[in-house]
Amino acid sequence: MTNQPNILLIYTGGTIGMVKDYDSGALKAFDFAKLLSQIPELEQLDCTIESISFEKPIDSSDMNPGYWIEIATIIESNYLAFDGFVVLHGSDTMSYSASALSFMLENLTKPVIFTGSQLPIGDLRTDAKENLITSIQIAALQAKEKPVVQEVGLYFEYKLYRGNRTTKVNAEHFEAFNSPNYPPIIESGVKLKINKPFLLKHPARKKPLIVHKQLDENVAILKMHPGLTANFLNSVLTATGLKALVLETFGAGNAPTADWFIESLESAIKRGVHIINVTQCSGGSVMMGHYETSKKLSKIQLVDGKDITTEAAITKAMYLLGNKVSDALFKTIFETSLRGEMQ
Ligand code: ASP
Repeated sequence: MTNQPNILLIYTGGTIGMVKDYDSGALKAFDFAKLLSQIPELEQLDCTIESISFEKPIDSSDMNPGYWIEIATIIESNYLAFDGFVVLHGSDTMSYSASALSFMLENLTKPVIFTGSQLPIGDLRTDAKENLITSIQIAALQAKEKPVVQEVGLYFEYKLYRGNRTTKVNAEHFEAFNSPNYPPIIESGVKLKINKPFLLKHPARKKPLIVHKQLDENVAILKMHPGLTANFLNSVLTATGLKALVLETFGAGNAPTADWFIESLESAIKRGVHIINVTQCSGGSVMMGHYETSKKLSKIQLVDGKDITTEAAITKAMYLLGNKVSDALFKTIFETSLRGEMQ
């Protein structure tokens, strides 16, 4: 069958690719070259599948921008030959990677679906098979000869989310991810329910894929807490090379009103550090100026992170700085949704 969609599986590591050695009880890497013989169910899918693996698969706690560039490069060099991509990835940092790739792949019109699992693929009670099979099925979904999903998604436990809207919320439940501020774009039940209004839309005139491989790592995240001292705040704000700080504030973007606090932020901003206001709540949005406690932040020109996740905020900062966006434009561009990552 020649016109079946052709799907590329990219294995980066993580629990999903592990099998139990029943003699020793230890987990060992699954041989993806033997994928079809190990999971014969895949033969029933209406698509062809090829796979490629990181030379040394990693636990996703070791993920870094260098590996994101590797994933982006694999997609770039196989973009024309495949109709969709499934990235098998450890769940721990999957939301960071899905967010980063969403920014790196500009004008993406093919599905890039991240998935993983809580239990190894070789485990009796594994969630890996369902996650893998449905991710491939979603990557192969076509309507009028075009992919249904034309963005970076994250599929886990019966739901496909927009990747840059997700966050890992549970270390042991099969339902490990959530997308607090954006509904799932596909739900898997007896049928695949596609929530069409929530799919990322592209302009009618197709533009070629642009793969951005410059990411600036001079960024950091600081979570506010009552009792944060001037000493610790200033040591972060004056760290050598710091260009952007994602500040996880309280509630709807609130922070202390004390003069020393505002002055520390203001002097960092004047030195050219971009400070992005993101809520530390798991859902909802920053509303700059809504309370007295955020009016001052607005006045000193903190960047309004609106309803962005911390994962999307830090990777968006790396992407914008890597693209040498000027200091004058950083705030305006950051506050604009580039890949559906914010309202
Ligand atoms: N530690 C693993 C990883 O993130 C957990 C998993 O795969 O879910 O690579």
